[in-house]
Amino acid sequence: MTYQECVDCIMDTSDKSINFNHKGICNYCIEAKEKIPLYKFSEEEEKSNLLILKDNVIKRKKKNIKYDSILGLSGGVDSSYVAYLAYKIGLNPLCVHFDNGWNSEIAVKNIKKIINITKFDLTTYVIDWPEFRDLQRSFFKAGVIDIEMLTDHAIFAALFKIRKEHKLDTVLSGTNYVTEHGLPFSWIWPKMDYTNIKSIHKKFGTLPIKSYPKMSNLKWLIMKNFNLGGIFEEPLNLVNYSKKEAMKTLKDFFDWEYYGGKHYESVFTKFYQAYVLIEKFKVDKRRSHLSCLIRNEEISRDEAKNELNNSAYDISDLIRDKKFVLKKLGFSENEFEKIMSDDPVPHDEFKTDQIYIKPMSFLYKTIFKRTNY
Ligand SMILES: [Zn+2]
Repeated sequence: MTYQECVDCIMDTSDKSINFNHKGICNYCIEAKEKIPLYKFSEEEEKSNLLILKDNVIKRKKKNIKYDSILGLSGGVDSSYVAYLAYKIGLNPLCVHFDNGWNSEIAVKNIKKIINITKFDLTTYVIDWPEFRDLQRSFFKAGVIDIEMLTDHAIFAALFKIRKEHKLDTVLSGTNYVTEHGLPFSWIWPKMDYTNIKSIHKKFGTLPIKSYPKMSNLKWLIMKNFNLGGIFEEPLNLVNYSKKEAMKTLKDFFDWEYYGGKHYESVFTKFYQAYVLIEKFKVDKRRSHLSCLIRNEEISRDEAKNELNNSAYDISDLIRDKKFVLKKLGFSENEFEKIMSDDPVPHDEFKTDQIYIKPMSFLYKTIFKRTNY
């Protein structure tokens, strides 16, 4: 494949599945041009969207239950802004913070600041560290790309468990189209593929997995399509969401602090995205994140190019974080260097449930006209 970069955004052929039209515009920009206008609202529309959201959430609230919804709060921009909107419109979510042992101090401080002002209740789900460490080590040893699926999978599964325990029918989600679309499939793996996690761990793990929160893809698919797992509300898709504006509001309102990059609220995520992905997998997620911001007219293409030209890691931060991560995961320098220089291994070299989930998902979409999976 000859190298090519989109003329409108900064996505390039590091995404193996990208394609370009005759003008040199990539498939993500073409799709976004149609979809982004669906997420742009007048002030009146925003107000009415949030009112309808509030009505729907309150309608679903069960009597004698203190909360009307559940909200996963990481301290990052998206979930913090959902908390802000929920507070503004008078909802009362139970906030859940997921502690996988890697949260940055800034993220934890942000959560405290939000809780102090909103007075929402907060529960922290602390994962069993030795088990999680064993899973993360397994993924490194396996050489697969999506090490973060371990966290994402556990967050979903834990959130659903707590949702059920508290009998809450609404999940307030930070998912949003304008700043999250267009992440190449080849850079990630479906988060709910527990078969894949189990198979990788079986080969490389050393501890039995007893308490790691899990959910099969089949259960997830059924729950999501038939609303058995509560209704997912996406408040950020109901307003003119802009990262820049959201961060400014959060700073003014909560004295919220930025941690310097998408999902860098976790020390591990920063190390993974700004070092492991770039060095071993030749994938720079900043390309996709910044391209979203270009399409959402938050930054210019030149600004994005400049930011991409900055090194992803400050060298002294990298030395410090690498030492910390290796020690925490129990890898020697030599072991880790070998992992970094070994060739990447595709996830489907291991068992996966995608063989039956993909056709099922297609069936749901075509027969039941469900599109939310
Ligand atoms: Zn593009």
